[in-house]
Amino acid sequence: MEIDDVNAITVLGAGSMGHGIAEVAALAGFEVRLRDIEEEFVRDGYEQIEWSLEKLVEQGQIDESTAEGTLDRVSTHVDLAAAVADVDVVIEAVPEKMAIKRDVYADLSAAAPDEAVFATNTSSLSITELASETDRPAQFCGMHFFNPPIRMELVEVISGAQTSESTMDLVADLAEAMGKTPVRVHKDSPGFIVNRVLVPLMNEAAWMVENSDATVAEVDSTTKYGLGLPMGSFELADQVGIDVGHHVLDYMHDALGDAYRPCPLLESKVEAGDLGKKSGTGFYDYGAGGGAQVPSDQVREDVANRLLAVLANEVAGLIETGVAGPEAIDTAVKLGGRWADGPARMLDERDLEELLAVLDERYEETGEERYEAVSYLRELVDAGSSFYGSAEAGSPDGDTGAPTDAYEYDAITVEVRERVGHVVLDRPHRMNTITDGLLEELRDAIERFEVDDDVRAVLITGAGDRAFSAGADIQAMAGGAGDVNHAAELSRLGQETFGRFESSELPIVAGVDGYCLGGGMELAMGADLRVASERSEFGQPEHDLGLLPGWGGTVRLQRIVGMGRAKEIIFTADRYDAATMADYGFVNEVVANDAFEERAFEMARDLAAGPPIAQRYTKRAMHRGWDDVDAGLDVEAQSFGLLFDTEDLMTGMTAFMGDGEPEFEGK
Ligand code: NAD
Repeated sequence: MEIDDVNAITVLGAGSMGHGIAEVAALAGFEVRLRDIEEEFVRDGYEQIEWSLEKLVEQGQIDESTAEGTLDRVSTHVDLAAAVADVDVVIEAVPEKMAIKRDVYADLSAAAPDEAVFATNTSSLSITELASETDRPAQFCGMHFFNPPIRMELVEVISGAQTSESTMDLVADLAEAMGKTPVRVHKDSPGFIVNRVLVPLMNEAAWMVENSDATVAEVDSTTKYGLGLPMGSFELADQVGIDVGHHVLDYMHDALGDAYRPCPLLESKVEAGDLGKKSGTGFYDYGAGGGAQVPSDQVREDVANRLLAVLANEVAGLIETGVAGPEAIDTAVKLGGRWADGPARMLDERDLEELLAVLDERYEETGEERYEAVSYLRELVDAGSSFYGSAEAGSPDGDTGAPTDAYEYDAITVEVRERVGHVVLDRPHRMNTITDGLLEELRDAIERFEVDDDVRAVLITGAGDRAFSAGADIQAMAGGAGDVNHAAELSRLGQETFGRFESSELPIVAGVDGYCLGGGMELAMGADLRVASERSEFGQPEHDLGLLPGWGGTVRLQRIVGMGRAKEIIFTADRYDAATMADYGFVNEVVANDAFEERAFEMARDLAAGPPIAQRYTKRAMHRGWDDVDAGLDVEAQSFGLLFDTEDLMTGMTAFMGDGEPEFEGK
């Protein structure tokens, strides 16, 4: 089954997660059947969807008719047979008890059509074991949403031992169709990615307090202000529920051994019913206006190193056992844990050797298994490598897959000099028009720049002096007029490639000399800065062709020049000169034709000399803040905290005081 074949989805369980998943699926246009064991429960879930949709309307995120249409697509059921008749995908979100799920899958296997795919939202149970309770283990996988599904972008898609690749593809596509970011977890391993990273960190925090090595205030101050994580370790435990964290640890302990033995401090809190925010007390007191008061001035280097050492061991363990690669781990923890930076990236900016020494020392001292370094971490340190450095060279997971040979492409050329990765769109005979092959090469180059230590900024220009790019190569690309699917796919490919510019950690300059039209202009929109020669001409001619800008132009242009100007440019389909585009705010700088080449390169080189970490965080905060002000401000605050712990800050400060030029190293 392919995603286009999916029409009807059944969600089993209308509780906190079930109703949220049903809402997200219905919003995405699927016919949704929500099922619970009592009429009252399923009604309750339906009303919560109704309430949530109303909120979205109030916040201006959807309009009234979308809300009505969404609700119309949701039906409620108690009768299982009716809920799953002719259904394509079933998402199970019933209570986290093996016995309940076992019964559910026995009934479901009998009632659902043979070709239906099953996905479980379990947070901790084994996917393989659950799959074995069904009559179709190949058509079964984990689809782990985060709470609340309507707001949380991450979905972990987890393979069981017998899950087929096509099931993984379908469920990942389904998550994407629901507007989520799927991260594939290649092996069914307790805690999957996010919990496997976060929960042991919480446990280590507790062990430090249990053994009187540090206080709650010191640990939380270090986690929040020293490491720049969104919350203190104990603040997070209180927020999630100490019982929830403890339960996951318990499960990991059973499945993975003593390294995950829950700290007695957590156990005693659970026994006393002090579960955190929801019970009024946990590590902090939430009564009468109280809450987690995390001091910013009790950061301790040794506490930070110990937490990071445990973190490094977990990340290395996930990679070593083939559960996920560094990039997948980072995406999952950033989206699922709201970290400003992913753990693998964060660790790569530290000294892995020092962290390994912390583990070795503690293991020798205490004999505790959680300090026993996994061999992959030791291998990295011995090779003087890093998580990403090694992924580039082909680590066990290999999913960042960047080849190490020279940058060799057909439609673009790439040169790296003075820390600038310079891409030239190299089809001058066709005015550097864009083909799907060129889009793929561009994306590949950007991804490889990101793991290339010699590249700190990117410049994109066009070959020859006639065009930056005159747009899409319609002739080469179109599968023919009327080929609707091909055209929509092409639009997605362009949107994603230029979206990759935005999500790239590197600052990107578009250097425009000559025509910058249609898709070429949309390419330039993905860049962070634009410099143009005087003779350049801009425009979105699509309306003249009966088309619309399909590579992000309807959305990105208005972000840069405002909706009024964007509409003018798109609706008139006129040509604009460089000076006008500078007035509109699209071009940052216009230069004389003969000075163009030098100035464009200089601009990129200046960015390459900037502070890489601060640049990366700035991009991230600005782009996150585009459609979600709170999320942007969150990233800004966390990043601000993180920067305080960088060498770049010292370098910048010292140069500022001494009036010299800083030499940032990105550390
Ligand atoms: P919940 O208790 O809020 O809801 C479970 C619902 O399932 C209840 O309404 C219950 O009546 C219903 N139910 C029980 N037996 C059923 C059956 N046979 N058929 C249909 N419905 C049945 O639980 P929840 O928090 O929504 O969790 C559901 C699943 O999602 C669990 O596996 C949990 O681990 C997972 N999960 C929870 C969270 C979270 O933060 N709550 C996050 C991610 C994943």
